[in-house]
Amino acid sequence: MSDCLFCKIIAKEIPAEIIYENDRVLAFKDINPKAPVHLLIVPKKHYDTLNDIPDDEMDIIADVHRAVKHLAREYGVAESGYRTLVNTNKEGGQAVFHVHYHLIGGRQLPV
Ligand code: 5GP
Ligand code: ZN
Repeated sequence: MSDCLFCKIIAKEIPAEIIYENDRVLAFKDINPKAPVHLLIVPKKHYDTLNDIPDDEMDIIADVHRAVKHLAREYGVAESGYRTLVNTNKEGGQAVFHVHYHLIGGRQLPV
């Protein structure tokens, strides 16, 4: 997707603080962190929203979650606790239309 911000980060055309990468997944720090740990984990393949991932490509979500689990431990929040969330479309609060998981922790999060 030529004018997708996260595709540009994946392509290293725009700088980001990249903290994890494999052949299918990239993770980087959120530019506007809502907590001491606020990471974004994205499939390298572009999908606008969670709705747009075909059923037979849903294994990418397992790949993303493998990275989430690894990063939660690496950033010291695995045991204290953290939140993963995906915003979808307007009323879900999605601002960047490339599927991404937020990993947020390092403080008590509101219910
Ligand atoms: P959304 O609301 O779409 O779920 O979340 C988008 C997230 O991307 C926001 O938390 C926002 O701070 C983050 N973000 C937006 N632009 C950039 C950027 O250029 N670099 C990084 N690292 N994060 C960004
Ligand atoms: Zn994209």
